[in-house]
Amino acid sequence: MNLATQIEQYLPRQLLELVKDISEQAAEQEQRVYLVGGVVRDMFLGYPNFDLDLVVEGDALKLAQQVAEASHAKLLTHHRFGTAKLRYRDFTLDMATARKETYAKPGALPTVTPSTLNDDLIRRDFSINAMAVSLTPNDYGELIDPHQGKSDLEHRLIRILHPRSFCDDATRILRAVRYEQRLGFGIEPRTAQLLKRDIPMLDTISGDRIRHELELIFKEKLPELAIKRLDNLGVLSKISLSLKGDGWIAEKFDRARRLKKPHQLPMLYFCLLIYSFSENEIEQFLTRLNTSATLSRAMRDTLHLKTSLPLLDKPAMKPSEIYYLLREYEPLAVQANAIATESPIVHQHLQLFLTKLRYVRTSLNGGDLKRLGIPVGPEIGQVLHALHKAKLDGEVKTRAGEKKLVRSLKNTWHTC
Ligand code: ATP
Repeated sequence: MNLATQIEQYLPRQLLELVKDISEQAAEQEQRVYLVGGVVRDMFLGYPNFDLDLVVEGDALKLAQQVAEASHAKLLTHHRFGTAKLRYRDFTLDMATARKETYAKPGALPTVTPSTLNDDLIRRDFSINAMAVSLTPNDYGELIDPHQGKSDLEHRLIRILHPRSFCDDATRILRAVRYEQRLGFGIEPRTAQLLKRDIPMLDTISGDRIRHELELIFKEKLPELAIKRLDNLGVLSKISLSLKGDGWIAEKFDRARRLKKPHQLPMLYFCLLIYSFSENEIEQFLTRLNTSATLSRAMRDTLHLKTSLPLLDKPAMKPSEIYYLLREYEPLAVQANAIATESPIVHQHLQLFLTKLRYVRTSLNGGDLKRLGIPVGPEIGQVLHALHKAKLDGEVKTRAGEKKLVRSLKNTWHTC
């Protein structure tokens, strides 16, 4: 099957020009080069995906260097892995030398040696990601599909390439569910059997790799679908016994999406995912996933704040009271609680903090107070605090109002 016409129609013009350049340079160097992975899959599905992955039978770095010079693309090389990244206008293109992988033990990172396209395809996760299209001039556009990826695409199936696949790399369990849910496919029955058999292999995977796969799920349009499926398959409980993917999660993730910009969502999803955890459970989870200090703090704060929510469940609270209760928490934790709480009053108070109170600043600063005759020392801090509180509560609104308050505070001190 030849896809030359499809490539022409699918790729934006500038990217197509770059691909043609690569094709010519590869022929000059007598190397063979292929388009592989997600882009081939998405081209068949008609979904835009212009982060191209290329595999070179030969030396990807040598080819990438020549392409970078000829087309003025920016080049980043990774000599140890034989990979290169080209940035060209708005596009990025990854080039790698075709490689063979062997796993010393389950879950370990593989040992990699340069090899052929076929070896490179068989190390991949699923048949739909293991297709290649030749870019070499003499057979430009030819589909190479040794694992029947095209047929699986047509039958809407996620299928592994060999029975040890999940043992070699159990992150593929999470990946299978991610693709299944993103594409609305099914996991092929034998693959599903092996997936369930190999769930215990998740214990062989490092925290960083599990977390990375969860982050990829959280970048999907509707991550709750994958989370629910992982729960039903018994995968979530292998990561942490208390993780759930129920209707509550679906509803709260949906609310989170309406509030936050996409790049802020993954951390918020994490905070919602652990909302029913106890202190012990969260500590185990943070250790298992080796989470960054920032993410750990957001999740811990989410649970600490949750225990303090009853203090915010009073209709007549002063803004300053709300502010002092919340100021020490990560805003993301406040946001997670605003989404999670069932109390409209608590929700309103948390939103008030997020949208207004945390930005309230006094107009006067320490220098201004000195000029107004406040002695240098603890008094400056006390007056600033009083000004801030009055501003939060709407008792002063302008700079002149703040000055007036400073003078009245001075008078009270003098009369004391
Ligand atoms: P998308 O970015 O749309 O999720 P992609 O196919 O581009 O899809 P990447 O995560 O960028 O996904 O990976 C590129 C390719 O590398 C995949 O298509 C797959 O063939 C291969 N791959 C990635 N992770 C694994 C893995 N854990 N095991 C085997 N192959 C993998």
